[in-house]
Amino acid sequence: MARPAQALLNLDALRHNVRHARTLASGARLMAVVKANAYGHGAVTIAKELQPVVDALAVASVDEAIELHDSGIRAPILLLEGPFEAAELQQAAQRDFWVTVASEQQLAWLEQAKLTNPLQCWLKVNTGMNRLGVDSAHAPAFFQRLVSCANCATAPVLYTHFSSADNLLSARTERQLERFAALPIDAPRSAANSAAVLAWPGAHLDWVRPGYMLYGNSPLPDAHPNTKALRPVMTLTSRVIALREVEAGAAVGYGGTFVSQRSSRIATIAIGYGDGYPRQAVNGTPLLINGQRARLAGRVSMDMLTADVTDLEGVQAGSEVVLWGDGLSVDEISRYAGNTIGYELTTRMPSRTPRVVSVS
Ligand SMILES: *Cc1c(COP(=O)(O)O)cnc(C)c1O
Repeated sequence: MARPAQALLNLDALRHNVRHARTLASGARLMAVVKANAYGHGAVTIAKELQPVVDALAVASVDEAIELHDSGIRAPILLLEGPFEAAELQQAAQRDFWVTVASEQQLAWLEQAKLTNPLQCWLKVNTGMNRLGVDSAHAPAFFQRLVSCANCATAPVLYTHFSSADNLLSARTERQLERFAALPIDAPRSAANSAAVLAWPGAHLDWVRPGYMLYGNSPLPDAHPNTKALRPVMTLTSRVIALREVEAGAAVGYGGTFVSQRSSRIATIAIGYGDGYPRQAVNGTPLLINGQRARLAGRVSMDMLTADVTDLEGVQAGSEVVLWGDGLSVDEISRYAGNTIGYELTTRMPSRTPRVVSVS
């Protein structure tokens, strides 16, 4: 048997999550965000599956977009940060990518470029995130220049991004939406990331741009009725490869950070931080063995980790382990893994861990 650490992909769940997003934002077109290797899931596999059921895709760079185009994807692909240098505009034009314009520099590149065909442009406006985008006060002038620019296709889209849509108690989302609504610009509009698709119906507008929720995870900190229907796409799995009985007082793993309080049964599982499981995960982090909850015991190693299975029935060498995914959300695991979020855990999964389509 090959090394059992694998990220299983359920593409049926992916399509289900798209339908859920469409149901929530029924009047809007849907742009699926597949940047950073589709949040670690494998951009080509995910984009091929999404292409027939979404209106557009979005990535962070022209290189990410070219990878998809080279694999046969022909859905429109928006570059969320726009060009990093002028030459990328012609690369984008050749392949009909859509480009963000978020600065004077990017607009100047677009105005001065000699392109074979005009580009669909998305003007990004800063309404309070203060990360990327032209300030609201300058947006109308930018928009006019785009409309008059021969390299920009007709009807640019106007968009903005929320800083705090995952916080239902924050007033920031409403404030950003008000600023966005007040722009005297006649264009299709987009604002909603996953959190806003799930929890801020007033932000759905003409285009929604979910990423994280399509992978079946939730950016909202607590159970929210609209998150219940989400189904995880990635299930990170491995198997038990050793079992031992230890006496009370035995220390387990590097640094002996887990010390058994009683005679205990310890299972060794073939997965570690070299496979994307967070080393920061503390003693007691849940995992599923044969579908039952066990607790991490001792430090996560590069290729292995250990769990206390004293109270579990039927654990043997070869027993199946779920680290996150079906039955155990990556968002829950992230809360045991230091100051992080499920987004980071899936996104930083290394190429070492095979992505295996398990349900199509
Ligand atoms: C990443 C990103 C999204 C998607 O955010 P999620 O929280 O994953 O839904 C949407 N819009 C922009 C501009 C982004 O950078």
